[in-house]
Amino acid sequence: MTKFEKIARRIDSFRDEMINLQIKLCSLPAISPASGGEGEVKKAEFLLDFLRQSGLHDIEVIKAPDLDAPAGYRPNILAVLKGDSSARTAWIMTHMDVVPPGDLAQWDGDPFKAWVEGGKVFGRGVEDNQQDLVASLFAVKAFEAEKIRPNFNIGIALVADEETGSRKGIEYVLRNSVAFRRHDLIVVPDAGNKDGTMIEVAEKGILWLRFKTIGRQTHASTPDKGINSFKAASFLITELDNLNRIFKDQDEIFEPPVSTFEPTKKESNVPNINTIPGEDVFYLDCRVLPQFPLEDVEKEIQKIVKRIENKFKVKISVEDQQRAPAAPPTSPQAAVVAALRAAIKDVYNVEAKASGIGGGTVAALFRRAGYEAACWSRVDETAHQPNEYCHIDNMVGDSKVFAHIFLQE
Ligand SMILES: [Zn+2]
Repeated sequence: MTKFEKIARRIDSFRDEMINLQIKLCSLPAISPASGGEGEVKKAEFLLDFLRQSGLHDIEVIKAPDLDAPAGYRPNILAVLKGDSSARTAWIMTHMDVVPPGDLAQWDGDPFKAWVEGGKVFGRGVEDNQQDLVASLFAVKAFEAEKIRPNFNIGIALVADEETGSRKGIEYVLRNSVAFRRHDLIVVPDAGNKDGTMIEVAEKGILWLRFKTIGRQTHASTPDKGINSFKAASFLITELDNLNRIFKDQDEIFEPPVSTFEPTKKESNVPNINTIPGEDVFYLDCRVLPQFPLEDVEKEIQKIVKRIENKFKVKISVEDQQRAPAAPPTSPQAAVVAALRAAIKDVYNVEAKASGIGGGTVAALFRRAGYEAACWSRVDETAHQPNEYCHIDNMVGDSKVFAHIFLQE
């Protein structure tokens, strides 16, 4: 029997313990103060005990000050199991915090008293992010139980504040700890797909813009006496569609492979039909491939805006609501991607591939700090929903994937 087979068998034997840990963690809701909770301290205290009992003694707790939390801080835990060589560490980073349950009437049970049904555990946080938090802990526990020493260090990072921006979480850790090193493998199992074939390595830049067009209000029967802001804004929207042509490059790693520029929200204008609106507000959601600086997009938008202003004699102001340049992508050839692909193939017998997505993940914070992090998980994507669940098979399988990575030569 190979080392991996021994560890995989041991992880299978932990199945019930893993379910029990899920249920226990659910009973310690770690909702951030910004969402009306008290933070992660109780959950972190419990997990610290668990880590020590699992043979992890090299533990650092990084407390991010937070006066809104009853404890006055938000806990971040970094635990390391030493390998034969400490030249590098394979990290699994998950987050302890969960989002509020939302409308309780939409739940079939108490979101903080997890229940098991049809091979799934239900409860708030069981998938996001406890499935892989528990999986990572039992992967380490299997090494201890089998008395197998990994070739390189194993690192378990349990962080706070992922759901409300990570400023008291991994962002704080990256600024206040030297635990992560350039050649470490960093896996963030906080995004994925159903069959586990998506390894997320890149994100598009995000630009959300508010366009306010000012004309002059007047009676609809005499449009010449005013300036129709809604009409000008409508021409503007169709002109903005040219951004798709100007920034037409494709990158097949992304799904969809192009930048997107979509008008979305529209504020209401006049309440009645027979008034020409003097003011119009709409929003544009841009997801931009990393090769285009957001400044270039903004410059093209300004040119279009000028044209519309001149043509319709309106004033248009453009204001960003969110502006997040793309983090440098992790290379599809990075060691962490290769390790994940091999592990996923051995455990789930599927070919995973490096992909880019349009939304932001917490891995971007690692990438901006110069680390090649990859996001991966096998999930049904029930995060933040009522009756959030985790497939027990995914929790056990992901644990084997992590153990496989820890066995890297
Ligand atoms: Zn999450």
